[in-house]
Amino acid sequence: MFPGFIDTHTHFEMNKGTPRQTADGWASGTLAALAGGTTTVLDFAEPEWGASLASALDTWHSRADGVSSCHYGFHMTIKNWNSNLRAELADMDRAGVTSYKVYFAYDNLRVSDGTALEVVRAVGERGGIVGCHCENGDLVTAGIAAQKAAGNLDPSAHPLSRPAAVEAEAVNRWLAVGELAGYPVNIVHLSTRRGLELVRMARERGQAAYVETCPQYLLLDDSRYNLPGFESAKFVLSPPLRGEADQAALWAGLEAGEIDTIGTDHCSFHFRGVKELGREDFSQIPNGIPGVEHRPVLLYTAGVAAGRITAHQMMKLLAEQPAKLFGMYPRKGALAVGSDADIVIFDPEYTGCITAAAQHQAVDYTPYEGFETKGRVETVLLSGEPAVEGGRVVSQGRGRYIRRVPSQFWR
Ligand SMILES: [Zn+2]
Repeated sequence: MFPGFIDTHTHFEMNKGTPRQTADGWASGTLAALAGGTTTVLDFAEPEWGASLASALDTWHSRADGVSSCHYGFHMTIKNWNSNLRAELADMDRAGVTSYKVYFAYDNLRVSDGTALEVVRAVGERGGIVGCHCENGDLVTAGIAAQKAAGNLDPSAHPLSRPAAVEAEAVNRWLAVGELAGYPVNIVHLSTRRGLELVRMARERGQAAYVETCPQYLLLDDSRYNLPGFESAKFVLSPPLRGEADQAALWAGLEAGEIDTIGTDHCSFHFRGVKELGREDFSQIPNGIPGVEHRPVLLYTAGVAAGRITAHQMMKLLAEQPAKLFGMYPRKGALAVGSDADIVIFDPEYTGCITAAAQHQAVDYTPYEGFETKGRVETVLLSGEPAVEGGRVVSQGRGRYIRRVPSQFWR
């Protein structure tokens, strides 16, 4: 038995301009989450350029309220910064939004180092946490241009355009921002050994830094960029999949308790017609992969059943620590009197196989096709009521918005 799992990194109903629209909206995405034992998700609300944080919050509520099958909350993405946005942080607190995200990557999203510093200070003062997408966007732009100039236009150029140094540089810079601000920072979807080494060094100096990684960086590697045809487009996400040494370092980091949370970065684009937009140019492939449904069973199979981590560690990574870092503990992330009765009953003996044909995710592929699994989410209670029975979802649209409080830091 586990407390309901929490995925603090989803992108449902993300529209990057038709047809660059994610396959999973709030209905299918949260149903898939629930089927896999995830009872709470935190998605990233993102204001339009120059718009208020409140406007983004309204938009995300309009998409999720009454639709979501699991409980949900929102992080807020900061794209630019000014006194009006700063003044909105108090409103966000009252609305239960206590976590934020900035990007060091993507031309239309990334913030300056000075803006990042101001955001971490302003959020830190209120007891919240800021996460960062740590890739150096300027070097990525240069890397893509270099690959194209060399005539490398297929998906195998994707990882070459953004190698480990691009992440490591941004991790180092983000840690410097946190150090100067004097508040804890979070690193989302860490993918490299070098990035983890930098975190370790910062912690040895006494800095509080939190780390998320994702199942894809633990279970899939960069050999997926050399598949025949256009298959490799299914694995185009950022940061890209890495090599075996990085995978080994991340597993060691999990075992040692150096990694704090595992989110999916679920961002599902259909292969047909959408990923395929990049057939002639890898940089036009919409970035992202699905995973919200399969994270718990993947971690159980490759982590617990394989003897790498204990079931207790899995519970901390998927439930307790995300609840603490994002202001939901002990209401979420614990099996205790007074906590919400979001409960997963797990059958450790079940053996299965992940296929797109059998998934609840509304996307036309899974990056884990054919992956043989150990264990299964047998029963899920959502707020004490049956939501999954015998592996089948039995209730929909019962998710409620989670008003969050400041972080509960343990580093
Ligand atoms: Zn993401």
